[in-house]
Amino acid sequence: RQPEKHILVIFGASGDLTYRKLVPSVFDLFTQKLLPENFGILGLGRTELSDDQFREKMKEGIEKFAGTINTKQDMVEEFLSKLFYYAFNTKEEKEYPDFKKHLESLNNKLKTENNYIFYLATPPSMYPLVPKFLANNQLNDESNGFKRLIVEKPFGYDLESARSLNHDLQNQFREEQIYRIDHYLGKETVQNLLVTRFSNGIFEPLWNRNFIDHVEITSAEDIGVGDRGGYYEDSGALRDMVQNHLMLLASLVAMEPPALIKDESIRNEIVKVMQSLRPIPEEKVPEFVIRGQYIGSEIRGKKQKGYREEKGVNPKSRTETFVAMKFFIDNWRWAGVPFYIRTGKSLPTRVTEIVIHFRPTPHHLFHGDKDIMKQKNQLVIRIQPDEGILLKFGMKLPGAGFNVQDVNMDFHYSELNDTYLPSAYERLLLDCMLGDATLYSRADAVEAAWEFVDPILKAWKNQPCIKVHGYPAGTWGPDVSDQLIEGEQTWRYPCKN
Ligand code: NAP
Repeated sequence: RQPEKHILVIFGASGDLTYRKLVPSVFDLFTQKLLPENFGILGLGRTELSDDQFREKMKEGIEKFAGTINTKQDMVEEFLSKLFYYAFNTKEEKEYPDFKKHLESLNNKLKTENNYIFYLATPPSMYPLVPKFLANNQLNDESNGFKRLIVEKPFGYDLESARSLNHDLQNQFREEQIYRIDHYLGKETVQNLLVTRFSNGIFEPLWNRNFIDHVEITSAEDIGVGDRGGYYEDSGALRDMVQNHLMLLASLVAMEPPALIKDESIRNEIVKVMQSLRPIPEEKVPEFVIRGQYIGSEIRGKKQKGYREEKGVNPKSRTETFVAMKFFIDNWRWAGVPFYIRTGKSLPTRVTEIVIHFRPTPHHLFHGDKDIMKQKNQLVIRIQPDEGILLKFGMKLPGAGFNVQDVNMDFHYSELNDTYLPSAYERLLLDCMLGDATLYSRADAVEAAWEFVDPILKAWKNQPCIKVHGYPAGTWGPDVSDQLIEGEQTWRYPCKN
């Protein structure tokens, strides 16, 4: 199915996201013939650029970042002819009537039947403003052509601001017109989590408190904040990674089977998980959540900067670059099963993975299984890099006796040779063009995730005695995060095993 004819209007088209992700992804859709014949991109920003200057800049982005560029270089010029640019200050309501005229004349030229997708790739302070000004100029009106709105992350700064943003957006656009991006849901391997769970008879019967000991989700980056220190200072790991991407991964692991693979079915199940999260009250935060910040270190003779030495960072900053937390999902399936999440910058490797730790066998028959930890099956779902799935299980060590050893059954996506892996933005943009919001976040889920995270933010703000633990750059975070995990267990260290 091809999307209906339309114009993709990008607010913030002179910025980094458009250059690195959005336009290269649309190019990839174009080369795969997934765009309608009548289609255009109208880029907006204050920077004065002619259509040709905009095309030149986007050409550079496409050549660096598009997934299909190596084989489709010959399609670049044709694609660029679909790109247009209009400079205006999107904060100024009085400039919208002229913008509207410009958009309408482009619509007449391209014969796109007043179908518009508005993509907000601007600083978040503009997310409530632009939709209001669009609506005041009837650019939310679907009586002639569809009007959709894509909103980038971050969606809110805390519960209150997320609610207020939802309220503002829903005042101007219907919920069905609003597409909130969480680019994790656009990733193939995240979608594969649903397929793994619900298309294989062997996993689902075990996928509950009776057979699963705990669930661990790690998202590690091996670099620091680099030149994004200014942005990161106001965000921190909890807002940047946990509230959105990692809570979403946890929901996909924990959700009930949806009735259908359709918008509302999946999104209903996601929100049910979010609503079942056991709240962590402010006074209990130190017991369940550890925050850390990387400090300068030396790795293989090379000096690594500490967070407080990064550009744009307050030398006394208490912004967390690492979070480890434990939480529970209070429902029939998951009662009593701890979920552990860990994320950070300047860790030893770049990896995002989910590990399902199954319960050990009830009785230990063989040598080598005295160490119960070794005798547990683990299902590792690697989201990035080297996307794939790994199952660890015990096998007999060849030779005398019955000694047990852990072995891996390992599948790598890269082994599906001819398969082109679309980028997350490619998938999400195409879905929005098709009017399918399944992989976008719904208002209630976003608010439920904020509701869970909000007491943690409040505790950190109101109780200065809660420590920000330093950890040397290049290590797995503060040692105290090990104490979160119960009993004899430890975190999995992806670069070691
Ligand atoms: P950026 O490079 O700073 O670009 C911001 C864009 O907004 C520029 O095109 C800027 O254009 C435009 N803008 C700002 N004020 C404006 C105004 N008053 N009128 C018209 N245009 C205005 O930011 P970015 O990295 O592209 O990020 C954009 C959004 O996406 C942010 O909210 C960010 O959180 C989110 N995001 C970015 C990434 C990423 O990889 N970059 C990833 C996830 C989410 P002019 O300067 O020309 O006015």
